[in-house]
Amino acid sequence: MQINRLFQTKEVTLSFEVFPPKTDAGLESVLKATHKIAELHPDFMSVTYGAGGGTSRSTAKIAADLQETYGTTVLAHLTCVTATKAKVAEMVDNYRELGIQNIMALRGDLPRDGVRGEDYRYAAELIRDIKKRAPELCIGGACYPEGHVECARPSEDLDHLKAKVEAGCDFLTTQMFFDNNILYNFLYKLEKKGIHVPVCAGIMPITNAKQVARSVALSGSTIPQRFRTMVDRFGDDPGSMRQAGVIYATEQIVDLIANGVGHIHVYSMNKPEVAAGIQRSLSEILGVGK
Ligand SMILES: Cc1cc2nc3c(=O)[nH]c(=O)nc-3n(C[C@H](O)[C@H](O)[C@H](O)COP(=O)(O)OP(=O)(O)OC[C@H]3O[C@@H](n4cnc5c(N)ncnc54)[C@H](O)[C@@H]3O)c2cc1C
Repeated sequence: MQINRLFQTKEVTLSFEVFPPKTDAGLESVLKATHKIAELHPDFMSVTYGAGGGTSRSTAKIAADLQETYGTTVLAHLTCVTATKAKVAEMVDNYRELGIQNIMALRGDLPRDGVRGEDYRYAAELIRDIKKRAPELCIGGACYPEGHVECARPSEDLDHLKAKVEAGCDFLTTQMFFDNNILYNFLYKLEKKGIHVPVCAGIMPITNAKQVARSVALSGSTIPQRFRTMVDRFGDDPGSMRQAGVIYATEQIVDLIANGVGHIHVYSMNKPEVAAGIQRSLSEILGVGK
């Protein structure tokens, strides 16, 4: 199913994200985890894509496997920072042949060695190419409630986002955020800017203390005091931290849905127990607006 259609027909949706293994040797255990998540019957599952392109075959394999085995609606990611136009065309054709109807089109994080490809600078260029090659596909793009880390001014980031949406984004998914007010302010700014595509709120359950530093460094997300206190108190006890992280994420989701933000994407990171914990706590709420 196309995700933009899904958003038109359902007021509240819950989706989960998984990522491919770094090497083929890890594929089996990742597939096992993705199967457990698919058995929860989320509205869709996204499969990330390594910016260097190294995991590209696994992304397609995992997405196709979920679709075939569970009938899951999948969103396969594609990045362009090191890709050539030929590679993008090959990947889009491959996704289409596999029956994948949704692509999350991204620039990708800049490679550590600084060597990027010459064909693409920004995600908007990738989106334009996908739309031209496969106009029937539904395309998602990333957005950043606190501004993208490389962009000095959030207002400029919004200008770039508007251009990206006009290039052909059917919906947006946000970077993680830990304070819902940041999202509400961002949604207001989108409205004023004339960006009207559906926005899926990206929620990252932080279930171990190490994840905090890593996630914040990558995303630049603000960490509220309430969150810091939780990590300070439970960070050294893995069981308590996992439970507290799931509860924090679930509370964020309840508040979002209560305030009319119905499309929730959980960065579940190949952790079925985290996905299941969140879904279980929302079982009645997920039926809202059916
Ligand atoms: C929901 C989500 C899913 C993700 N999945 C993946 C994944 O699967 N694999 C992966 O490697 N990474 C993934 N990422 C990370 C993402 O690749 C990085 O955040 C990356 O740094 C930016 O990608 P983008 O597509 O948002 O880039 P862009 O939209 O191209 O923006 C990148 C930067 O360029 C600026 N910019 C855009 N257009 C212009 C312009 N015309 N002139 C000047 N500046 C401009 C923007 O303001 C921004 O600072 C994901 C992020 C999110 C939020």
